[in-house]
Amino acid sequence: MLMGEDEIEPALTMQDQWGGWVMKRLGDGLCAALDRATFRCRIYAHRPTICRDFAMGSDDCIDIRGDVNVPASALLPEPPRNR
Ligand code: SF4
Repeated sequence: MLMGEDEIEPALTMQDQWGGWVMKRLGDGLCAALDRATFRCRIYAHRPTICRDFAMGSDDCIDIRGDVNVPASALLPEPPRNR
């Protein structure tokens, strides 16, 4: 769910079934902002609040990666923090 302070390019967002704004998912089920070649966020410095609060490599992160079949080769080191 996007928050009021999030400034995301509208083309990367969509309304969910409850009318809330979220990051758009493409046909592969992954976020529209995800670079499919590198599996890195294309808007990392401006990513939504919910993404900033999500711990990369946490149990939840690993579960979600499994749900969407992210290949093991995409498990890259964490990029530098730009908060
Ligand atoms: S951190 Fe991940 S989910 Fe969040 S905007 Fe970037 S690619 Fe999308």
